[in-house]
Amino acid sequence: MDASNRSCLNDSYNRPISYLRVSVTDRCNYRCVYCMPPNGVPMRSREEILRYEEIALVVRAAASLGISKVRLTGGEPLVRPQLAELVKALSHVPGIDDLALTTNGALLSRYARELARAGLRRVNVSLDTLRPQRFRQITRYGDLEPVLQGIAAAQKAGLAPLKINTVVVRGLNLDEVADIAGTTLVQDWHVRFIELMPLGEECLAPSPGAADPADVTQPGGFVPVAEMVQAIEAALGPLEPAKLVGGNGPARYYRLSGARGTVGFISPVSEHFCYQCNRLRLTADGRLRPCLLSEGEIDLRAPLREGATVEELKGLIVQAAVAKPERHRLPQRQVPRSRIMSEIGG
Ligand code: SAM
Ligand code: SF4
Repeated sequence: MDASNRSCLNDSYNRPISYLRVSVTDRCNYRCVYCMPPNGVPMRSREEILRYEEIALVVRAAASLGISKVRLTGGEPLVRPQLAELVKALSHVPGIDDLALTTNGALLSRYARELARAGLRRVNVSLDTLRPQRFRQITRYGDLEPVLQGIAAAQKAGLAPLKINTVVVRGLNLDEVADIAGTTLVQDWHVRFIELMPLGEECLAPSPGAADPADVTQPGGFVPVAEMVQAIEAALGPLEPAKLVGGNGPARYYRLSGARGTVGFISPVSEHFCYQCNRLRLTADGRLRPCLLSEGEIDLRAPLREGATVEELKGLIVQAAVAKPERHRLPQRQVPRSRIMSEIGG
C-alpha cells in the first residue's frame, strides 16, 4: 500500500499505533526460569486458540487502520504446525510491510528457509547464555547447539537484520553480558539486553539485597540497564551510539569499536519508554491487549466466531487503541497477574 494512502491509528495520548504483536500459541518447548513455572501453565485447548484464518482477518482489519508491522510470537511460535501458512497469508495483506518472528530458535534451522520463502522478513532469537550447561539451566529443557544452528540457518535464509534478545538476570547470566556483547565484534548480530520484567511467578521473589525487599517491581534477579552497560564497557571499552536497527522498537543501540553488529538495551522497568509505545498485542486466545504490563483486554474471539465483519473488527481495534494506558504502573506496584509472558506473547 502506498504510504501516502495509509490511514493512521492513534491512541488517546496521540501515539501512532502501527505495530501488532500476535501470539500464535501459548505452548512452548522450553520453560525459561523467568518466563514460566517449571511445570508450565495450563494450556488452552485447540478450540480456544485463534485459527490462522481468524488471525489473518484481524491483521487485515488492523492493516486497514494503519498497522504496518506484525510480529509473530508466543509461547514458542515454531511449535505451532504449519506456521509458514500463516506467514504466507499475512505477507499478502496490503499495508503490512514488516513481518517478523520472535523465537527461542530451537526449531529454527528446520523452518528458516520455508519461512523466508513464505514472506517472513526477519527474526529475533532469544539467547541468554553462550554456555551449554547454563543454557539448560535457564531453559530447563533446551540445548544450545540447535539454537546456534538456527541462527546460522536464519542468516543463510536472508532473514535480516538478525536480532538476539538476552534477558539479563542477576545470579544467572549477568557475568556473561560482556561475552555476549563481544559476539557483535565478529558476528553481524544485533544483541539487545533486556531488563527482567515482573511477569512470571518465579520472578516475583524480591532480589536478594534489593533496596526494598517488598518492591515487586524489582523482581528477583532484576538488573538495571545502567549496570549492564557498566559491565560491558569495563570489559570491552566504550559503547558508541549507533543507528536504529530495523523496525522502530524501544531499544537504544550502540556499537563497540570495530564491531560488525550492535549492542542494544531495552529498559522497560528502569526507564520506561511508554511515551513512544506504538503497539497492541493479540493473545493466542484472541484477546487484544493494549499494554503488556496492564491487565485490560478486549475479546475478539467471540465476535470473530459470531461472524464479525472487518468493519466490526476495526471498531474493536480502535477501542483497544483508545483504551491504551498512558504508561504502565510498575512504580505504583501494579504488576499484571492474570497472565504470564508466554500467555500474552512477549
Ligand atoms: N518463545 C519465544 C522466545 O523465547 O523468543 C517467544 C516468546 S517469549 C515470551 C518473547 C521474549 O520475552 C523472549 O525474548 C523472552 O526472553 C522474553 N521474556 C520472557 N519473560 C520475560 C520477563 N519476565 N522479562 C523480560 N523478558 C521476558
Ligand atoms: Fe518459552 Fe520463550 Fe517463555 Fe522461554 S521465553 S519459556 S522460550 S515462551
